[in-house]
Amino acid sequence: MEKLFLKVFFDKTMSRFINKKYEELTAYTPGEQPLGVKYVKLNTNESPYPPSPSVLVSIGYGELSDLRLYSDPDCRSLRAALGDFYGRSANEVFVSNGSDDILNFAFMAFSEKGVVFPDITYGFYEVYAKLHGAKYEKKPLCDDFSIKTEDYLDQNGKLIVLANPNAPTGIFKPLCEIEKILAANPDSVVLVDEAYIDFGGESALKLLDKYKNLLVVRTYSKSRSLAGARLGFAFADKEIIDDLSKIKFSTNPYSINRLTLIAGEAALKDGKYYEDNAKKIIETRAFVTEKLRAMGFEVVESAANFVLAGHDKISGSDFAEEMKKRGILIRHFSGERLEKYNRITIGTRAEMEAFLFAAEKIIG
Ligand code: PMP
Repeated sequence: MEKLFLKVFFDKTMSRFINKKYEELTAYTPGEQPLGVKYVKLNTNESPYPPSPSVLVSIGYGELSDLRLYSDPDCRSLRAALGDFYGRSANEVFVSNGSDDILNFAFMAFSEKGVVFPDITYGFYEVYAKLHGAKYEKKPLCDDFSIKTEDYLDQNGKLIVLANPNAPTGIFKPLCEIEKILAANPDSVVLVDEAYIDFGGESALKLLDKYKNLLVVRTYSKSRSLAGARLGFAFADKEIIDDLSKIKFSTNPYSINRLTLIAGEAALKDGKYYEDNAKKIIETRAFVTEKLRAMGFEVVESAANFVLAGHDKISGSDFAEEMKKRGILIRHFSGERLEKYNRITIGTRAEMEAFLFAAEKIIG
């Protein structure tokens, strides 16, 4: 059954009608979302905890029957609520269908002079650069997988894209370093992708007043347990937000559906619930890091809801394969420097104990 599913969905072909410019495009490969088979799912950095009580009760009969109406394309209520929550005005807030959607718009809007990002980072950046025909440069991470600030100074108008904490390393780059990059590049938009900021680190939001070239992108998919609702948001100077809106209104003005708008606003009311979940994940991350290191794994110090870990005894792909046989999904990425590693999402304590038990068996 699973083989058949993979065959139907992943044997991609191409018609003779496709625009030439897309012939060579390699699409992003999302982590596996299994159908039918129940796995311990540690492969796509989702939250192991359900959405908060307010979210669960927010969608009632009234909202469901209102589905006959379009959603608010300006997302006024949610933007105002996000603005209040994060201390910005509503016209400095942008929302769309997952942060991937916002990244896509940002690449479309700001990459005319080129784009720079690290060689090991979120794989979608390269896909977006190619999709929009932008010239791009991948700056190699240092030996310890950290981002080298000097590589991003003087970019002369190129879009600079940094995930902070970075993925799949989990390493957080201190704000003072981000600030150096912002200050050195007044003609570049510096996009800081903070998908994982609630699990460590310090948000660049506080730099918004000082730097008009900063675009901070966030998501409800990780710390707010709403990956399936598809909701991303971003903060920047009003003019940058207006640029993103122009692109959104030129593609799909109703990119967020009515139910997601309601769920998103409800999630903002339960801040403590999500903070507590993030705390649990941080504690479990420390537990997993220590146990894996005791087994001889090299584990990168993470500020995110995952760890990057590898063992000299086994390749990353073999380890992931062995885990899958034991009912546990983790994510292996190709690339020379990542050969021995896997990215392991931090689940509940019980899920991670199952993972550690399996790891011990595999390593022997
Ligand atoms: N940025 C980073 C660094 C990510 O890892 C992800 C999740 N794959 C995203 C953005 C996109 O998240 P979403 O579209 O679910 O908001």
